[in-house]
Amino acid sequence: MDEEEQREGKILNSFRKAIEQEEFQVYFQPKMDAKTLSICGAEALVRWKKDEETVWTPNVFIPLLEKAGFITELDFYVYEKVFQWMKKRSDQGEKLVPISMNVSRLHLKNPEKFTEKVFHLLMKYRIHTDDIIFEITESMYMEQPEVINEIIGKFHERGIRISMDDFGSGYSSLNMLKDILFDEVKIDRQFLEHELSERGKIVLQELFHMLRRMQKSIVCEGVETKEISDFLVQEGCDELQGFLYYQPMDEQAFQAVMAKETKKQK
Ligand code: C2E
Ligand code: CA
Ligand code: CA
Repeated sequence: MDEEEQREGKILNSFRKAIEQEEFQVYFQPKMDAKTLSICGAEALVRWKKDEETVWTPNVFIPLLEKAGFITELDFYVYEKVFQWMKKRSDQGEKLVPISMNVSRLHLKNPEKFTEKVFHLLMKYRIHTDDIIFEITESMYMEQPEVINEIIGKFHERGIRISMDDFGSGYSSLNMLKDILFDEVKIDRQFLEHELSERGKIVLQELFHMLRRMQKSIVCEGVETKEISDFLVQEGCDELQGFLYYQPMDEQAFQAVMAKETKKQK
């Protein structure tokens, strides 16, 4: 075995123990309302805290967990942690904003188990369905549109919103746009990388125009500069997410940010 394989083996071997010992942590990255520039939601992003100094981002372990089939377990772990946190906050009478959670493509192998388990967790923690959003990537939709639409149908019956993540990162066709049942479209950050060219601006303007006419909520992620943010606001994007506003942060830091926001609004 070469070094890389040994490293991968070590990561996979430590997965179960990491779940038991709660080494995985949920970070939150706020989403901003484009009109008021106040926090209107957040995306839950998983981190693996190896020790006090080392925190791994998903690119280090998610591809491996996907390959080994462990990622579905991690997703449910993340959902449960998010719901526990939401329940605690609502029990304490604290303000909640909708939390977006990522869905691995591996759930598509067993869509019934996925929806059943989510509904079970929602009941267990008495979560209001309008307080959560699930993000499903464009590429997952491209691979299995029927399965995705079935999942969306079940979620919609219960009032849960679905966002199309990484929109425009793959080879989605315009034709596909007319069939999508998604409530929100999250424009991939590739669109906003580097400076926006005139043509890039035209593509975004027309895309927003189409999405607005279809009553989809428009979110842009990877917003890093004021110039880009101003353009997106002017063109009618609904929500902004990116380092210009906030980096992903741990629960404690997110709580502090939310408290400050609540004070500001009073
Ligand atoms: P994603 O769903 O596209 O999440 C957004 C990623 O963009 C996050 O990376 C976030 O930190 C990063 N980001 C946010 N704002 C900016 C910005 O202004 N500039 C730049 N350059 N990057 C920005 P992160 O946290 O490393 O997550 C990477 C990916 O890992 C996520 O991409 C998602 O696909 C996956 N992931 C994260 N958490 C989970 C999870 O709980 N379950 C599953 N299945 N996948 C997850
Ligand atoms: Ca996402
Ligand atoms: Ca994304």
